[in-house]
Amino acid sequence: MLTGMQIAVMGGDARQLEIIRKLTELDAKLSLVGFEQLDHAFTGASKEKVDEVDFSVIDAIILPVPGTNLEGQVETIFSNEKVILTKDMLLSTPEHCKVYSGITNTYLTGIIKQANRDLVQLFERDDVAIFNSIPTVEGTIMMAIQHTDFTIHGSNVCVLGLGRVGMSVARTFHALGAKVKVGARKTEHLARITEMGLTPFHLKDIENEVINTDICINTIPKHIVKSSVISKMPTHTLIIDLASKPGGTDFRYAEKRGIKALLAPGLPGIVAPKTAGQILANVLAQLLMEDSTKREEKGT
Ligand code: NAP
Repeated sequence: MLTGMQIAVMGGDARQLEIIRKLTELDAKLSLVGFEQLDHAFTGASKEKVDEVDFSVIDAIILPVPGTNLEGQVETIFSNEKVILTKDMLLSTPEHCKVYSGITNTYLTGIIKQANRDLVQLFERDDVAIFNSIPTVEGTIMMAIQHTDFTIHGSNVCVLGLGRVGMSVARTFHALGAKVKVGARKTEHLARITEMGLTPFHLKDIENEVINTDICINTIPKHIVKSSVISKMPTHTLIIDLASKPGGTDFRYAEKRGIKALLAPGLPGIVAPKTAGQILANVLAQLLMEDSTKREEKGT
């Protein structure tokens, strides 16, 4: 349980509601910043403006997945209030106060360092990334269906990367009856692709490997689907780029060649915000309970 713990939940989208639900169930006391337009009320949670929060009693700050923008602003879907997280707010928290976000940027990392607090990036964790790959794959299937006039079954699908997303994508498209090949650079990845019953290829051969691709799904956050690669694809190829912005595709060249290339960020929050929120809520609950137990043991 999180009895006695005081947590500020600052901004966010529908995923944050699952976090709020879970933490109130665990008896934490919540200050909700950037939620005044939310109709729902949660027991043990009070909606506050950012300048009303008493940061001196806050044990943890939960930010939305992107953290802040480069000016410190936190996205607030349920509010018109401009919420900015500052170094001074962090400095006024107790020393043990931790900040939780999905990812970070130079602004957030900078104020965390200056205030000497800890930042936990949930998306760096393997468990979160693997769970999150499930709604990501479902969103990818949705996009493939929406943007093609042929079935996934029987089509030639080329997946780039065998990381946490790439593996789930490759396995699921294979299960749907696609002929899946996967490009990777590590020998252990090439071995795993073979073991999965898929066709491996080394990324250095990518240009030759895409000549009969119907759907190319990129998960590598590097410039990999270059113009020289796109020029070898059939014109009906659909490129779905899952890698974080700006993606790994030469979108300008794809458009010039008449190939449809879609950058598809944030699919879990779009296709399954409830599940995506529950994934974060479960991990957060576990981490906060561990922190609370440690502090009780230390008597702080
Ligand atoms: P990951 O586990 O780190 O996998 C990344 C893959 O890219 C690995 O196979 C890695 O291979 C490969 N890679 C990285 N740099 C490379 C390079 N220079 N050359 C060749 N291969 C390279 O990451 P993930 O969790 O699968 O996520 C993949 C991307 O999807 C990330 O950008 C993530 O932010 C994004 N994502 C998007 C969504 C969405 O909704 N669109 C959802 C979740 C994640 P090595 O092991 O050889 O480095």
